[in-house]
Amino acid sequence: MNPFSLALGEDQLAVRDWLHGFAADVMRPAAAEWDEREETPWPIIQEAAKLGIYSLDFYAQQYFDPSGVGIPVAMEELFWGDAGIGLSIVGTTLAAVAVLANGTDEQIGTWAPQMFGTPEDVKVAAFCSSEPDAGSDVSALRTRAVYDQAKDEWVLNGTKTWATNGGIAAVHVVVATVDPALGARGQASFVVPPGTPGLAQGQKFKKHGIRASHTAEVVLDNVRVPGHCLLGGKEKLDERLARARERAAGGEARGKAGKNAAMATFEASRPAVGAQAIGIARAAYEVALDYAKTRVQFGRPIIDNQGVAFTLADMRTRIDAARLLVWRASWMAANQQPFTAAEGSMSKLYAGETAKWVTSQAMQLLGGNGFTREYPVERMHRDSAIYTIFEGTSEIQRLVIARTISGLPIR
Ligand SMILES: Cc1cc2nc3c(=O)[nH]c(=O)nc-3n(C[C@H](O)[C@H](O)[C@H](O)COP(=O)(O)OP(=O)(O)OC[C@H]3O[C@@H](n4cnc5c(N)ncnc54)[C@H](O)[C@@H]3O)c2cc1C
Repeated sequence: MNPFSLALGEDQLAVRDWLHGFAADVMRPAAAEWDEREETPWPIIQEAAKLGIYSLDFYAQQYFDPSGVGIPVAMEELFWGDAGIGLSIVGTTLAAVAVLANGTDEQIGTWAPQMFGTPEDVKVAAFCSSEPDAGSDVSALRTRAVYDQAKDEWVLNGTKTWATNGGIAAVHVVVATVDPALGARGQASFVVPPGTPGLAQGQKFKKHGIRASHTAEVVLDNVRVPGHCLLGGKEKLDERLARARERAAGGEARGKAGKNAAMATFEASRPAVGAQAIGIARAAYEVALDYAKTRVQFGRPIIDNQGVAFTLADMRTRIDAARLLVWRASWMAANQQPFTAAEGSMSKLYAGETAKWVTSQAMQLLGGNGFTREYPVERMHRDSAIYTIFEGTSEIQRLVIARTISGLPIR
């Protein structure tokens, strides 16, 4: 094992600085406009694609960085630039991770490139797990996948909600129930290829934050996909279902712990989502620090007051602590260390809560200016709020951590 070090290598520093330049020069200046427009910033995704920042190659390189911190470093820089545009750029990776986590090499090779398109014709992808009656409770999914043996096709029916890029994506990855009696264990993930009839966008949501990122319902009405669109393949699914049925026959509770398709995706992506939250928090902290040094009240910069300076000290401390948790979980995942204390959930919980707290403190330090859209901290605060909700709410992260450290089925 390598000696302990938190220092980034030369290549990692080069990537970080390159992304920082894009975040500062392209994303920041456009952030307010796309937040107001509440539309996917296609020209910026195109620009990112031309530079190689929006590409399968780039994310694959970061994903396979042996230290594990390639993805968190990239996420932090992009979301330091802007979270709404950032999510528009990296939203595709959630679907890509679902294919990586559950798919065969052939499926990864077929679908991952189609998710990104080309710099001349960029595409996005969507990961559709949540449903109106199945948010935190992933085992309650109602979307059904039924196998049509005669045609070797799967038929998908149901309504997905809150899907990032839902309906505007080229490739949708849909988590569906194959055997409802098995709860979470009876689920599988399917790729819905571009242009498949029966898949339509439902309501597009107007949101509090990350407004440049498209979030919508996805309606699946007799969507037929070829057998090879089942991620992992039918043989593997049949084996998994047989094992689950044996366990169920042995009296094990429905939906009890155990990996399912959606959870495999979330486990891999939680530290990366935490890193996004850190990017927002760091951005707000930097604005607040500058402001506190220059804003004069009672004849001195407001930072001269211990109350203000200590708040900034706490902001910075929590941001650094969150980053250490994210890097630890990312390093563990890359080095096949088991999450024995739910370290992935821990990192996402702490980073999400930190982003919300830091951005609210930043607004307070900017006084009236913090409350206006003349300054970016108001937008950053709105953007931060999603980080205690999606990819598992803070309560669900606590539940996962509590169950893992106690070994008890805490409810
Ligand atoms: C902008 C946005 C983008 C999203 N993108 C995607 C996406 O791309 N793909 C996708 O599949 N989903 C996506 N989601 C869905 C997101 O993951 C869910 O909103 C989230 O998991 C919470 O589910 P819910 O909204 O149904 O809340 P609920 O599960 O109904 O929770 C409501 C409240 O109850 C609490 N709660 C629930 N159960 C418990 C419990 N057992 N103990 C304690 N408290 C509990 C929750 O913490 C929360 O505070 C997105 C959501 C948003 C808002």
